[in-house]
Amino acid sequence: MTDRFDVAVIGSGFAGSLMAMIAHRLGLRVILLERGRHPRTVIGESSTPLSNLLLEEIAQRYALDNLRSLSKWGSWREQHPEVACGLKRGFSFFHHAQGRTGAIERKDQLLVAASPRDRISDTHWYRADFDAYLAGEAQRLGVEYLDEVELSEFRDEERGACLRGSRAGQELRIAARFVVDATGPRGFLHRSLGLGERTLPNAQVTSALYSHFTGVRRIAETGGVVLNDVPPYPVDDAAVHHVFDGGWIWVLHFCNGVTSAGIAATEALASRMQLNEGREAWQRVLESIPLLREQFRDAGAIQPFRHLPRLGFRSATVAGKNWALLPSAAGFVDPLLSTGFPLTLLGVMRLAEILEQDWKSERFHLEAYVAQTDAELLATARLIGALYANFTNFPVFSAICLLYFAAATYTETARRLGRPQLASSFLLHDHPSFGINCAGVLERAHAVRTQADSEALVQEIRRVIEPIDVAGLSDTSRRNWYPVDGEDLLRAAHKLHASRDEVLSMLDRCGFSAPCVSQP
Ligand SMILES: Cc1cc2nc3c(=O)[nH]c(=O)nc-3n(C[C@H](O)[C@H](O)[C@H](O)COP(=O)(O)OP(=O)(O)OC[C@H]3O[C@@H](n4cnc5c(N)ncnc54)[C@H](O)[C@@H]3O)c2cc1C
Repeated sequence: MTDRFDVAVIGSGFAGSLMAMIAHRLGLRVILLERGRHPRTVIGESSTPLSNLLLEEIAQRYALDNLRSLSKWGSWREQHPEVACGLKRGFSFFHHAQGRTGAIERKDQLLVAASPRDRISDTHWYRADFDAYLAGEAQRLGVEYLDEVELSEFRDEERGACLRGSRAGQELRIAARFVVDATGPRGFLHRSLGLGERTLPNAQVTSALYSHFTGVRRIAETGGVVLNDVPPYPVDDAAVHHVFDGGWIWVLHFCNGVTSAGIAATEALASRMQLNEGREAWQRVLESIPLLREQFRDAGAIQPFRHLPRLGFRSATVAGKNWALLPSAAGFVDPLLSTGFPLTLLGVMRLAEILEQDWKSERFHLEAYVAQTDAELLATARLIGALYANFTNFPVFSAICLLYFAAATYTETARRLGRPQLASSFLLHDHPSFGINCAGVLERAHAVRTQADSEALVQEIRRVIEPIDVAGLSDTSRRNWYPVDGEDLLRAAHKLHASRDEVLSMLDRCGFSAPCVSQP
């Protein structure tokens, strides 16, 4: 087959399919090329409020009406019951101190709600279903789709690029004016163009071991966590993080009875646990953490265990004249805090704008895209690196998490209020004050030695957060449990240059329960 397209997108994960649909909506002739075949298992499942908002914005801007309902649990379950997902009301963190017995007390918990109730809450994407649905939608809209494609060569040409490969024994040659690589870290263009890697400063080398399970109990059933008051949301309906010396474990429940779980660990812990041994290693990990041993007592893996030896990645080059890597192909740090989706979606939106603006001009202006993609990856590495340095110091670990939540809620609210210019970068890393101050405290987090260091750093982080905190995260009386409360947003309206009425109407538009908001 030889054919000519405007845009070729390589890789039909959610991001590649979204990119292809958008380019199609821009009036371009698009081909989407996939090495595998849907439905297939892929990792990276937990969304966030910002990811869902970006998905909603994409759906609205490019008239992808069927995707809009996928940005919230309630509408997803109603309109796409065939596409499995999980309920994500927030982020739950439990600290497992070495040698400690007994249930985890409040001081070793961090619960950050992301939504006030189930209907408008976030989701875990069951990627086998979700990605298959999006690839199907792309085809339904008119995107040309080829799966089981083996690409072998990419050639840059004067007015575009040429891809060569094969499919079912037949030679394939595809010419396109622009190529988007959505094949993930160390993906197709990275390897075929020999783009090279750069180091990720501040980030530890980490690896992961994971699978999908059935029969996993809920934490509440194990009695492993002290929940004396009513928590801001059921702690299992969340991205659950168990943190301990050298690593952390995620547990994500889906509505189809499947649970995703895995460990990400430093080199030292990975080699002590011999993560490369798969199932046996997972068993060793469970044995070392009483709560998880209980939770997985009757569980069975339904997928082969997958070991990823080197998670961190930063491509030395992000784009060329007629091609670009999506952020997910340009770099990755670690799954901690689910930064993969928002970074990728921001990249999809930025590339879409470039295609729209530059299609008729002589060249694509990709310089800002390249700089933003790399700068956001580095900001993520600073954050994750500081968290990894403090797994055994839960007060500092929690305070660093709050930096992330403060930046994320500020960004989400600014965008929902129609003021995206207040929060134009991921983690607000280029915000004139927060960006610099945040980088400063994250640097200091690598040098915490004493109790006094810890206390001083936590205080400093609270000071850094306060000017952008719109979610009550600086309120110490909440003792590590942070609900979603409209009052917090109303009190912080001035930080977003908004009036009370604007915030109220935004809350109303978002399906927030108005009764929880009282008048001043
Ligand atoms: C262990 C782990 C856990 C994670 N958890 C989270 C999380 O909870 N939340 C979050 O936000 N992010 C998470 N991430 C990051 C997340 O996985 C990525 O951000 C996300 O998958 C990117 O989606 P994508 O569509 O760009 O790429 P992918 O999902 O990687 O899809 C790439 C597609 O390209 C195809 N492909 C690959 N090579 C070729 C080729 N040569 N030719 C054609 N097609 C090809 C693949 O078959 C696949 O379909 C996690 C990552 C890891 C490693």
